[in-house]
Amino acid sequence: MKNRMNELVKQLNQYADAYYRLDSPLVSDAEYDKLYRDLVELETAHPDLVLPNSPSHRVGGKVLEGFSKYQHQYPLYSLQDAFSFEELAAFDRRVRKEFPHVTYICELKIDGLSISLTYEAGHLVVGATRGDGSIGENITENLKRVQDIPLTLPEPLDITVRGECYMPKASFGRVNQIRQEAGEVEFANPRNAAAGTLRQLDTRIVAKRGLATFLYQEASPTEADSQSHVLEKLTKLGFVTNQDYYLADTMEDVWHFIEDLAGRRQNLPYDIDGVVIKVNNLAVQEELGFTVKAPRWAIAYKFPAEEKEAEILSVDWTVGRTGVVTPTANLTPVQLAGTTVSRATLHNVDYIADKDIRLHDTVIVYKAGDIIPAVLSVVEAKRDQQEPLLIPTACPSCGSELRHYEDEVALRCINPLCPAQLKSKLEHFASRDAMNIAGLGPSIVEKLFSANLVHDVADIYQLSIEDLLTLEGFKEKSATKLYQAIQASKSNSAERLLFGLGIRHVGSKASKIVLENFVTVPRLAEASLEEIAVLDGIGAVIAESLTTYFGSEGAKTLLAELEASDVNLSYLGQKVSSDAQLAGMTIVLTGKLERLKRSEAKAKLESLGANVAGSVSKKTDLVVAGSDAGSKLAKAQELGIEVRDEAWLESL
Ligand code: NAD
Repeated sequence: MKNRMNELVKQLNQYADAYYRLDSPLVSDAEYDKLYRDLVELETAHPDLVLPNSPSHRVGGKVLEGFSKYQHQYPLYSLQDAFSFEELAAFDRRVRKEFPHVTYICELKIDGLSISLTYEAGHLVVGATRGDGSIGENITENLKRVQDIPLTLPEPLDITVRGECYMPKASFGRVNQIRQEAGEVEFANPRNAAAGTLRQLDTRIVAKRGLATFLYQEASPTEADSQSHVLEKLTKLGFVTNQDYYLADTMEDVWHFIEDLAGRRQNLPYDIDGVVIKVNNLAVQEELGFTVKAPRWAIAYKFPAEEKEAEILSVDWTVGRTGVVTPTANLTPVQLAGTTVSRATLHNVDYIADKDIRLHDTVIVYKAGDIIPAVLSVVEAKRDQQEPLLIPTACPSCGSELRHYEDEVALRCINPLCPAQLKSKLEHFASRDAMNIAGLGPSIVEKLFSANLVHDVADIYQLSIEDLLTLEGFKEKSATKLYQAIQASKSNSAERLLFGLGIRHVGSKASKIVLENFVTVPRLAEASLEEIAVLDGIGAVIAESLTTYFGSEGAKTLLAELEASDVNLSYLGQKVSSDAQLAGMTIVLTGKLERLKRSEAKAKLESLGANVAGSVSKKTDLVVAGSDAGSKLAKAQELGIEVRDEAWLESL
């Protein structure tokens, strides 16, 4: 018994360290929760054997080096958890024994990490992590880069508030895609991505990652009398609170809310891992008090894990635009989070080696955010005589030798003429944010390559209507339409072309900045690394990537071909000067616009110097509201922010 408890404590502490300190979990939350419950069960039966370093009487993790420590004035707690209605009912009985008439507030359990924000005279002075509950990390500078955290409050208050900082599913997908293309390790889930981001020592990275917050607690003494009033007050002060909460009279009501939420959870733009049920009345909360680790007035219901076992039937290796070769497992189909899953990513070769994943292994598959499912681990107990997976040495598309660079986790095909890379390069070139050639999607690209009509992006400008008519499924009308779309793209402003070339690290924003300054692509191609790196918003990494690209023979030939086809290589927009009409203003678009597309409105505002943000906060200068505007408009009105309509936008 003692040995088992020792072993569990050791194992759980090791898992918690990887999870809290390194943001890189070794096991799934479900597995951790199960072992934790085993330990608590043993400790309850044998209280005399409880070890002093047991995780059952400690909150969270330790403080990371690199940040200064912050002693919390008001401690932060963990939550007791429940996995069934019976456990919730038992919690309810304990509470009602003392307070028969309580009502509950159900809040979404946002899967991010706790933050504590302290304001003095209305100014944000400290932002910190939970740490072990009494000492956290001071991450003020990083939290200041999170768009929706107000730096000043509308009233000069001394107040400490608590909440969750998280990474929305959309940001998570984007961040991991960039990491995958750069051959870096992807984040396991949005929670780890948020935690890893907040512990960045470079605040500029934090600003780029698109984190967001929901605040839910006033830790300093409050005059509010209920949790729902606290939420109202926080909203008035300019914090983002989650309005998807529910007031319940009974545990049956709570359960209905949970069941309803389980059905729509996938559609939320952020990850949740359960529902936090709190006694709504703050005076009752105070009476109920705390255990060493968690409040007695709240409980977290956790959804069953979205994990299933499946067998790996085969593995596909696909080559992306940048030559990174990604392994995907084909699985026996399983139902996961409402969909049938038969494929899951294995991330990269290092991941396969670390987890020792083999063909025909039974593995745990899980879904994190909106991304494709991933293989989490091997079920060792079900392993038989499986052979290690064969890692390809040659590119599955062109057959050339693959590289596994020391500083990368990915395998790469470095042949610039690899057909798989060329196809996805062309898809990217034609995509909406690049050259925006309607109708040139993956299936047409495939046909063009199979018919040997194109080999690189410049070739599409040599295509005639007759060429297109030779492709299966094309008629006079469709061929003419695609031909015209290709021709029209020739006169795009050149930042679209530059972005479309798919140069490593060069996104649409960087493309615009460099061309605003160098005006033409040929001039940019001749610029030195130093000349590019000094530009505002462009660092050494982008500058180096650009000079390396334009230094290659392939790029020189491509530019010459594009020029010969009369593709415009000049920037046609105007450089936004500091005296532009909307220079430096932060503007939020909301509601439905009748005449302009959202992307057009955004482009227009940006061309006039505005920064277009996704959510309303104290930092917002102006909100443009179309019809059916909802919570953003309400928030703007509440904060007294100027609101304009579509007609104003058009008049600019
Ligand atoms: P918890 O799951 O016990 O819940 C407490 C936290 O919930 C709070 O600190 C707060 O950050 C958060 N929260 C989100 N929305 C909230 C709301 N509306 N109101 C109040 N709180 C809200 O968190 P914990 O104590 O940090 O961690 C324990 C859990 O972490 C485990 O159950 C496990 O799932 C996971 N864990 C996993 C591993 C692993 O290796 N995979 C290791 C350690 C911990």
